[in-house]
Amino acid sequence: MRMSRAFGNTLREVPGEADTASHQLLLRAGFVDQLMAGVYSWMPLGWRTKRRVEAIIREEMDAAGAQEVHLPALQPVELWEQSGRKQALGEVLFQLMDRRERGLALGPTHEEVATRLFADHTSSYRDLPVTLYQVQTKFRDEARPRGGLVRVREFTMKDAYSFDADDAGLDESYRAMFEAYRRIFDRCGVPTVPVEADSGAIGGKGSQEFIFLTDTGEDTIVLCDTCDYAANTEKAEFIRPPAAPEDPLPLEPVDTPGATTIEALAALLDVPAAKTAKAVFFMAMARPGAASHPAASAVAAASAERDTPVFAVVRGDLEVNEIKLSNALDGRALRPMTDAEVSEHGLVAGYASPIDAPSHVLVVADLSIPDSPNLVAGANQEGTHLRNVNYGRDWTAAIVADIALAQAGHRCPRCAEGEAGGTLRTARGIEMGHVFRLDYTYTKPMDVTVSGADGQQVTPTMGCYGIGLDRLVAAAVEQHHDERGITWPASIAPYDVHLVGLGLTRDAEVAADAERLYEELRAAGLDVLFDDRDESPGVKFNDADLIGIPMRLTVSSRNHKAGVVEVQRRAEGEAEQVARGEVVARLPSAASGGAAPTHMQ
Ligand SMILES: [Zn+2]
Repeated sequence: MRMSRAFGNTLREVPGEADTASHQLLLRAGFVDQLMAGVYSWMPLGWRTKRRVEAIIREEMDAAGAQEVHLPALQPVELWEQSGRKQALGEVLFQLMDRRERGLALGPTHEEVATRLFADHTSSYRDLPVTLYQVQTKFRDEARPRGGLVRVREFTMKDAYSFDADDAGLDESYRAMFEAYRRIFDRCGVPTVPVEADSGAIGGKGSQEFIFLTDTGEDTIVLCDTCDYAANTEKAEFIRPPAAPEDPLPLEPVDTPGATTIEALAALLDVPAAKTAKAVFFMAMARPGAASHPAASAVAAASAERDTPVFAVVRGDLEVNEIKLSNALDGRALRPMTDAEVSEHGLVAGYASPIDAPSHVLVVADLSIPDSPNLVAGANQEGTHLRNVNYGRDWTAAIVADIALAQAGHRCPRCAEGEAGGTLRTARGIEMGHVFRLDYTYTKPMDVTVSGADGQQVTPTMGCYGIGLDRLVAAAVEQHHDERGITWPASIAPYDVHLVGLGLTRDAEVAADAERLYEELRAAGLDVLFDDRDESPGVKFNDADLIGIPMRLTVSSRNHKAGVVEVQRRAEGEAEQVARGEVVARLPSAASGGAAPTHMQ
């Protein structure tokens, strides 16, 4: 491509709205352009990189035995009602009406459509396993689009769906996708850590995210300092600091005026926070029909027909993890209770007591509570707490579950034992990919069966697997840039070679040689960006550094007289003068595959 003809310009100014390096550089180098919040156009340079990422993904998916399909973005909304996800996704689902007033949705993901397609075309276990994948545009009405290409409302996703006859088959399909994902991220030059994750609105029996660690990430990851345990904070388990064993003591009211926080209470009574019980109030949103959902527990389902006040109790040294709490309530959405609602439901803010809590309030206790004797808890009376509150003797919860947040300094759930083993730390990151064991989450409610070996109908078990391409490009830039611009890994650079011609309008001989070299490079199978513009060397070199193509070749009058071409690797090293006759042969062979491997880990 000749830069004199190329569409799009580099920008000198850092665009005001861009707050991450990748967002700034992709805008400045002319890779993307923002149309509105969370919606971007891909410019020619950016589109080339994105298509290289796509090509790597397709190669790895095909190698893993997956078959490419293309599913519609426009979908009947009934499909989402049938799976129960219309409610779960809420406002994230873009909905519209066609001219016959039929409800439609723009696909935020494709489990329903893929499952329907599979069901319509598979009748026997002999057709299994099958994994389908696509590279498709997804639409999600995110409340807060941010971070450039990280959280957007229209984006490209590679999604895949596996169907197997049994658990062993699902394990194998899942492992094949997991390994393919590792290779994809490695080849794109984006180091990732696989972490245990919450399955959220997708559902299923467990999932792992591939996280790119970066301080600008919006996810918090918990990592063990000793073993390889890693989990998203939404999901992370931990060993609760043990409470000293004590015999239960008699309940005793104590005056605590003004002590409405754990800190104030602990200071006033001179006890550690771990000797108190912390109450946090939420409203769990109604989910009509939830009682019939296969995952519904009896207690939570009974209350799901209407908005339900929830009284969550954790030990005072811990915090409530809202995702875990929501999972304990079959995934119902939560919001904090307003002060007015707290009073309305018969609770006294700052002094609420789990003892004799109103019967319509759903009390959920963390696992830390039953094991911690003689806690200080509210007396449900302004200015008064109770000492020596004991779970089981004085009160019980409707649900006891892991609802506490793992934090830095907690002990590792996998390797810590007694004093030995690992401690958890936290880090920020961006989710690059997510693989799910869906199990029967879609096939059961959608009544999908195939005939089994014994002639009986069996329900296939599913997995699903997603990679966001736009954020993968952004992460590659976060990982590969310096103060001058992007330093693309050769595998996904928009071009292999940036050919810079200096003084071409003044020296016809040099201009002719630069044209010849452009042709020779292309004949050798290389993708070449040729800076044939009438610009100063400074402008050309700045643009080359900003755009970040791995190999820069400079042709100039001086080099021409010396019979050499200057070869400079973008990411590192000194410029090298290579004899004009040898330069093409000295370059890494054609295109993405042959270039130097990107440095990993
Ligand atoms: Zn560990």
